[in-house]
Amino acid sequence: GKELAGKVAIVTGAGSGIGRATALLFAANGARVIAVDVGNSANETATLGENISAVQADAGDEVAMAALIDGVVKAHGRLDIVYANAGISGGFAGIFDQTADDWHEILRVNLIGPFLAIKYAGKAMAGLIESGVQDAGSIIATASVAGLRSGAGGPAYSASKAGVINLVRIGAQQLAGSNIRVNAICPGLIETGMTQPIYDHVRAAGKEQRIGQLNPLRRGGVPSEIAEAALFLASKRSSYVNGHALVVDGGLSSS
Ligand code: NAD
Repeated sequence: GKELAGKVAIVTGAGSGIGRATALLFAANGARVIAVDVGNSANETATLGENISAVQADAGDEVAMAALIDGVVKAHGRLDIVYANAGISGGFAGIFDQTADDWHEILRVNLIGPFLAIKYAGKAMAGLIESGVQDAGSIIATASVAGLRSGAGGPAYSASKAGVINLVRIGAQQLAGSNIRVNAICPGLIETGMTQPIYDHVRAAGKEQRIGQLNPLRRGGVPSEIAEAALFLASKRSSYVNGHALVVDGGLSSS
């Protein structure tokens, strides 16, 4: 049978890149997927496929996320998996080029977004587990290798991702009693909408090999390679993995 048959999954940031690849992989493995994105990107999720419903919502907005999770539980009767993946980059700006407003917005989406997912999905899942509707839950957030070291994406981005790595540990402690696991994924450099400017820049300069030079595997990653990690953490194959930040970076951060 399919790994996620009968499961209900929410994926945020599903209009592009890693979220899109994960929504497709979860659905291909039998899940009913609620694909969440904001603004114009929400349209992109509308065409993903039969088992995928598109919802336009801001993953960093408390009222919107609470309503979204409540609506999914009412419509589908269960909630097994939430992948809090939506994120924004700070570009190439350094400390002297960022404002407090830049920090507020990056932390709002990248760190408060996963907090809201853990808070509202954790509460909903715990209730569903307690009443015997389901026996487990898995919440995943996208951190980054930038959260493990001073990384690309700027200071607010790196700090937000370091925050996510700590947040999943806290979430794991608090929700383990209900059999809800909380983990993070730390992708390395993956070709997506977010990193397109980097790829465009090196390609325009005829220096695409630069991408691979940074990495022991000699190449950048693709979204499906992160989606595979998300599938592992979403499924019962990872039933004893909890509070963990899974690095999927081709060896970048170990070199
Ligand atoms: P992407 O830009 O291709 O996709 C991100 C999606 O999130 C977009 O569709 C965007 O519209 C959506 N989004 C942004 N803000 C949102 C909000 N407030 N609410 C709902 N949706 C929102 O980028 P990606 O690389 O696929 O990024 C996915 C995650 O992976 C992000 O958290 C990012 O920080 C992380 N990440 C990416 C890389 C990389 O190299 N691409 C590396 C490490 C971590």
